Amino acid sequence: MTTVDLPLLPLGRGVDLGSERGVECPGDLPSPSDPDLVARAVAAKEALGSRVFVLGHHYQRDEVIQFADVTGDSFKLAREAAARPEAEFIVFCGVHFMAESADILTSPDQKVILPDLAAGCSMADMARLTQVEDAWAALVEAGIADEVVPVTYMNSSADIKAFCGRNGGAVCTSSNAETALEWAFEQGSKVLFFPDQHLGRNTAVLKMGMSLDDCVVWDPHRPHGGLTVEQLRDARMILWKGHCSVHGRFSPDTVDDLRATIPGIQILVHPECTHEVVLKADLVGSTEFIINTIEAAAPGTAWAVGTELNLVKRLAAAHPDKRIVFLDKTVCYCSTMNRIDLPHLVWALESLANDTVVNQIEVDPETERWAKVALDRMLALPGKTHKD
Ligand code: SF4
Repeated sequence: MTTVDLPLLPLGRGVDLGSERGVECPGDLPSPSDPDLVARAVAAKEALGSRVFVLGHHYQRDEVIQFADVTGDSFKLAREAAARPEAEFIVFCGVHFMAESADILTSPDQKVILPDLAAGCSMADMARLTQVEDAWAALVEAGIADEVVPVTYMNSSADIKAFCGRNGGAVCTSSNAETALEWAFEQGSKVLFFPDQHLGRNTAVLKMGMSLDDCVVWDPHRPHGGLTVEQLRDARMILWKGHCSVHGRFSPDTVDDLRATIPGIQILVHPECTHEVVLKADLVGSTEFIINTIEAAAPGTAWAVGTELNLVKRLAAAHPDKRIVFLDKTVCYCSTMNRIDLPHLVWALESLANDTVVNQIEVDPETERWAKVALDRMLALPGKTHKD
């Protein structure tokens, strides 16, 4: 097999384990129409017993989440993996960067398995290490690199986290982004924030009192990021031009339409949504915040939720006493999260039960060392919970 550097969506070909890009599944997958899939998953999981621990991200399909030993956001799941040293195999039903973080936080003896290696993240893929190094070189050239603290969102590849570790920066999640930025501005006068411009802008402007003019956007596809040296010198937040393809779809117009058609509806969104949408929302917060808000809401209340559709559908099903709608007129799942389906999970579990390790995610030791530095700086932040 040869390495192919393709955009994310033509999935399933090539081998590039260091990136979020798709790779082909080497085994024979069960047919999706096999009526015994559920029984096979149950049997394989029982055969593995305590040797396996299955993690399920909130955005996973129902058919997969039913087999998760624990569900959560990416950081909670990585911590859950780290808290299970007895499990030989951690099967991560999520996307590639999450499995990498689990590998970094678990012991060297434990093996982290991603049932489909094509489950990447288009946002994480928007900041590649070479692009980030080019941006950093421009900051050095502009004479401001010493003032800049790099902060990466959890939703980034391990080598980007390692870059932050090596250069005095940290990782953040959508729950602790404000605390992480406060920490960063104690270390320097500017922050280079990647890969999600929206989380960076929403946190800087709505939580930290900066103006939109304090923020500039570095476009890795334009010469010098599309910015002048003066713009870089004047900025406080240098935002990477990346976004989530799911949360970036929600629009202010839909918020207006829903408010007009469902009186009293409350708009609850994730901070990966655009600034315009977040400005119109009633509440903004992480996936865990969204779940907790809906659980605590009074019966009869109406909510439009701006996050991944699998989660919104599960929330609606679990709370029939509340009206819960998706904040988009069209159906839109995270296509890469949805790559993990029951056939892939069955294949992974049965392979492990037959002592064949498949789809192991391994971060190289040097990358792991520096990525852990950046993660540990986040863990040392005061106060807030660490969830995204
Ligand atoms: S929902 Fe967005 S950030 Fe999360 S895995 Fe999918 S593309 Fe990446």
